[in-house]
Amino acid sequence: MAETARRAFVAGHPIGHSRSPLIHRHWLARYGIDGAYDPVDVAPDDFPAFLDGLAAGGIAGGNVTIPHKEAAFRHVARRDAAADAIGAVNTVWLEDGTLVGGNTDAYGFAANLDDRMPCWREAERALVLGAGGAARAILHALREAGITDIRLANRTRTRAQELAQGFGPNVSVAEWQALDDAAAEAGLVVNTTSLGMKGEGRIDLAMDRLSPDAIVTDIVYVPLRTPLLCAAGQAGLATVDGLGMLLHQAVPGFEKWFGVRPQVTEELRALVVADLGEGA
Ligand code: NAP
Repeated sequence: MAETARRAFVAGHPIGHSRSPLIHRHWLARYGIDGAYDPVDVAPDDFPAFLDGLAAGGIAGGNVTIPHKEAAFRHVARRDAAADAIGAVNTVWLEDGTLVGGNTDAYGFAANLDDRMPCWREAERALVLGAGGAARAILHALREAGITDIRLANRTRTRAQELAQGFGPNVSVAEWQALDDAAAEAGLVVNTTSLGMKGEGRIDLAMDRLSPDAIVTDIVYVPLRTPLLCAAGQAGLATVDGLGMLLHQAVPGFEKWFGVRPQVTEELRALVVADLGEGA
C-alpha cells in the first residue's frame, strides 16, 4: 500500500509574507517527496486548538511564526534545549503522538556563518545590536559557539539589561549611544534590530573602529545588502547577509517532517532572491 503523503504547515497571523512555503516546496520537489507544505492563517485565540488538532489531522508538524512563537512555547508538551534557552518555539513535530517544540533560529544563524565565513567562531568579542525576539536566538548561538565576551546594545536599555541577565556572565550591556566604542575590538558585529529594512532607518557605525578582520552580519535580508553591510563592505570588512539564516533554519524541520535532511544550495537561494524581487 502506498504511504500516505506527509503534510506540514507554517502558521502565522497574517501569513501571506512567509517565504517558508517556497523553501519547503522546493525541497519536496527536489527530493521527489510525496508531501505538502501549506501556509495557514491562525488567529491567536484559535492557536491552542490548532495545535491540539494536529495529531488527529494526520499532520507531521510545521513552522510557527509571528505572533505565535511564545504561545507555541507554552503549549507544547516538550521542548528542545534551544527553545528552552530562547523562550520561543518556531518548529513543532509529533513524537509518538506527543507535540514537541524546537527553535531552529540559532542553528540557522550559526549554519549560515559556518557556510559563508567559518572563522566567525574564532571571534573573542561580539557586538549584538538589538534585544528583541531574534536577539535571543543570536545570543544563544554565540554562547553555544563559545564566544565569551558578548556586548549587547539596544535603543531601550532596560530590554538589553533583562536579556543580558537571562544569558549569564558572558553577556554585558553596551550603550546604544556609544556604539562605536562598543564595536572597538569586536571580531563579530550582528544586527538583529529592524533598522536597515526599507523605510526603517539605518545603523551608523564607525567601521574604522572595528578590527580589520571583523565580520559584520545582518539578520535583516530585505534588502539583502543593508546599509550596514554596504558600509562594512566599503570599509573592506567581511560581510554575511541574513538570507542564509532563513534558509538554514528551515533544514531541521524539513528533516523531522519528511525524513530527508535537505541541502541549502545556490539554486534555492536564487529562488528566494527572485521572490524577494525589487525589495532585495
Ligand atoms: P522585535 O522583537 O520587534 O525587535 C525589534 C528590535 O529592533 C528591538 O531591539 C528594537 O529596539 C529595535 N528597533 C526597532 N526600531 C528601532 C529604531 N528605530 N531604532 C533603534 N532600534 C530599533 O523584532 P525581531 O523579531 O527581533 O526581528 C528583528 C529583525 O530581524 C526583523 O527585521 C526580522 O525580519 C529579522 N529576522 C530575520 C531572521 C532571518 O532568518 N534572517 C529571523 C528572525 C528575524 P527597542 O527594544 O528599543 O524597541
